[in-house]
Amino acid sequence: MSIEADLEYSRTSKRVKAIKPSGIRKFFDLLSGMEGAISLGVGEPDYTTPWHIREAAIFALEHGRTMYTSNSGTPELRREIAAYLNRIHELDYDWKSEILVTVGVSEALDLATRAILDPGDEVIVPDPCYVSYASCITLAGGVPVSVPTYEDQSFEINPMDVARYITPKTKAILLGFPANPTGAVMPANKLSEIAILAERHNLIVISDEIYNRLTYGVTVPSFASMPGMKERTVLLNGVSKCYSMTGWRIGYAAGPQEIIAAMTKIHQYSMLCASSMGQAAAMEALKNGEEDIQAMVEDYNRRRMVMVSGFNSLGLSCFDPRGAFYAFPSVKSTGLSSDEFAERLLKEEKVAAVPGTAFGEQGEGYLRCCYATSMSQIEEALERIKRFLSRL
Ligand code: PLP
Repeated sequence: MSIEADLEYSRTSKRVKAIKPSGIRKFFDLLSGMEGAISLGVGEPDYTTPWHIREAAIFALEHGRTMYTSNSGTPELRREIAAYLNRIHELDYDWKSEILVTVGVSEALDLATRAILDPGDEVIVPDPCYVSYASCITLAGGVPVSVPTYEDQSFEINPMDVARYITPKTKAILLGFPANPTGAVMPANKLSEIAILAERHNLIVISDEIYNRLTYGVTVPSFASMPGMKERTVLLNGVSKCYSMTGWRIGYAAGPQEIIAAMTKIHQYSMLCASSMGQAAAMEALKNGEEDIQAMVEDYNRRRMVMVSGFNSLGLSCFDPRGAFYAFPSVKSTGLSSDEFAERLLKEEKVAAVPGTAFGEQGEGYLRCCYATSMSQIEEALERIKRFLSRL
């Protein structure tokens, strides 16, 4: 190998180099081994999966259901997903050709971007947004294009702003509402304005609806139920958040046949299928888990109100998040950056929260705090934050 070639040679790809390390990880590294710390950092439910769901997996194991399933997922689960989407959103999907069971929404995001994008294709994403969106787009060869969202617009993505960012290279819009990290929801009228743009510019909409059932006093429609949108939407959802099943790794994609077939093509060479016992558990969740969702939502709502009013009374203005399980208070009044605030809060008071910048430039000046933790931890965290603020 010549010296020039040797210098240019790299054992890892340019695509991997182009993605940033997760800003969340850094905080978990600081947190690990710290005694007496309170974490508002992890975005996952604090409940154990409801017993009847665990039992369904035990039953599947006892009956020897330990083999690979069909690449697309068991017919029983796909039928159940179709029935669920019909019951909740009045959407009609053909379970045989329009639904794919994946390893969480995480895999579905990876598959959807890889199935849709060619090198250089642009995908519009809200800023701030879930950490995986930009990385999945980049790894698929695409270009994430961030559309800023603002606290005084309730962190909803503004359709007029979306229109400004559309170029001839735009292939898709990736939406995630209710949103991580802000807890923002989108009203139906704004979703239908985005639908009009998707139609006009022939765009695909990847709609991450993982928090769709975790809402407080509002309901959020599926993007696929907007007029004319079922044929353009890749609806992503799963059981991780609303049934407290993060470790089971079951998600799904529902969408146009051609896109689901393309995603299945990749999935059959990478994952083969999602775990068979996880699929058995997910089926029970979708079939008989409505009461579990209601109970958890009521509980999250109590914690949400304590956290949001707590931040506001400490002078950290906090917008009213109507979905997911995150509060996104502003720390701008302290004069500290998100990173400085989060790092000092962790070191001085042992409270872990994620700086808003982990989710995009618009996250500067904010902290993401997850309230899927016990009420006593939330109250203690607020006390510690009060003490921290009094020293600034
Ligand atoms: N989408 C969003 C917006 C999330 O917040 C998360 C997890 O935090 C995921 C997707 C990943 O979900 P899953 O556990 O189904 O892979």
